[in-house]
Amino acid sequence: MRLIVQKYGGTSVGSPERIRNVARRLLETQREGCKVVAVISAMAGVTDDLIKLARETSPQPAERELDALLATGEQAAIALTAMAVNALGGKAVSLTGAEAGILTDRAHTRAKIANISPKQIHELLADDYIVVVAGFQGQNADGETTTLGRGGSDLTAIALAGALNADACQIFTDVDGVFTCDPRVVSDARKIDEVAYDELLEMAGAGSKVMQSRAVEFAKKFGIEFEVRSSLKPGAGTIAKEETANMEDVVIRGVSLDRNQAKLTVDDVRDEAGIAGRIFSAIAHGNIVVDMIVQSVSKHGTTDISFTIHENDLEAARALLDPIVTEVQAAGLLATKGVAKLSVVGIGMRSHSGVAARLFDCLGKAGINIQLISTSEIKIAVIIDGKDADRAAQLTHQEFGLTRFTSAPSR
Ligand code: ADP
Ligand code: ASP
Ligand code: MG
Repeated sequence: MRLIVQKYGGTSVGSPERIRNVARRLLETQREGCKVVAVISAMAGVTDDLIKLARETSPQPAERELDALLATGEQAAIALTAMAVNALGGKAVSLTGAEAGILTDRAHTRAKIANISPKQIHELLADDYIVVVAGFQGQNADGETTTLGRGGSDLTAIALAGALNADACQIFTDVDGVFTCDPRVVSDARKIDEVAYDELLEMAGAGSKVMQSRAVEFAKKFGIEFEVRSSLKPGAGTIAKEETANMEDVVIRGVSLDRNQAKLTVDDVRDEAGIAGRIFSAIAHGNIVVDMIVQSVSKHGTTDISFTIHENDLEAARALLDPIVTEVQAAGLLATKGVAKLSVVGIGMRSHSGVAARLFDCLGKAGINIQLISTSEIKIAVIIDGKDADRAAQLTHQEFGLTRFTSAPSR
């Protein structure tokens, strides 16, 4: 008998009607002869509301308590989903992350899955239950509730599919699959039929929030193929898998946008050993994740060091860096909010030249200034003014022939 893991995101369980729709799908899958494990997210908006509530109650809530609070979102959704299956005449049981045997490390709010002991899931499946597991949560070795970072239900689904050796893992969401760009930004973006783990990983890391990047990382590490598809419409979605030979034929698979960035520049600092280490140690000390880093060419013994972070971390970064800037006798610290990162991603970049030139040319002709550039083997990313972000994504998407009405890149 086939075992299938189906994950439903927040919008897909956003109302009682949508939960009943999910219950119907789960039952259909079971009737087709499958054992079914469902991974469910909190109803749309619930996690955001809980975070807001926590911040209104306490300026700096303890992360342990934040996890205890956030986990309730998924717990409500699994109970409702199991009720809906039962109301349709099926048999379902809801399990919290802990009950499902999901053991994590101790890093509250961003825990990593350490181990899964799915004994109870197997027993329930053997008794023909649909097993409805809370996404985004687990428990640490002390029995405390932990959560897996925003979008973490994707990780629960992929990790469970791996632990249960499932025959298929389907990620149901509110779009038809992974698109060449966020369809909410570029209206003629196209659904991609197949995407390599590495491409999806770069896209997720570059702001395409359709899949949590840690979930894709996990899938890549353990070779877990999965499909991203719509919970609202029938039809095949996007298969994420190990790259195949013909995937390199496509130069650019997708364009990603990340708006919530801030840029910091340590201006006119001595170009000598140890300075960068001091700056970034201070940032690391504050647990702030740094994205792009660019150091300009040294002129007369000084240089500028620029880097980007999430804009929510800007004030904390400034507080950490102000004393360092004085200490290393830099001219100052420049901070810019409201910048965006635009990335083009594709494994075809490895074998096609001229992609950077084409991207820069396209933005240049539109009068969009590039502030920072970074590259990986399969990605080129630029920092631009946030107000240009949507226009830049649309133009880039068009430039690389990704729209629904063109088939292949024109060059
Ligand atoms: P869920 O609640 O199902 O986990 P998310 O909101 O986390 O769903 O992710 C789905 C959303 O991701 C879509 O509604 C879409 O706006 C956004 N998105 C961003 N980039 C892409 C992309 N390249 N392809 C598809 N969706 C994308
Ligand atoms: N509810 C969590 C979040 O909003 C986890 C998820 O939806 O995947 O981040
Ligand atoms: Mg999500």
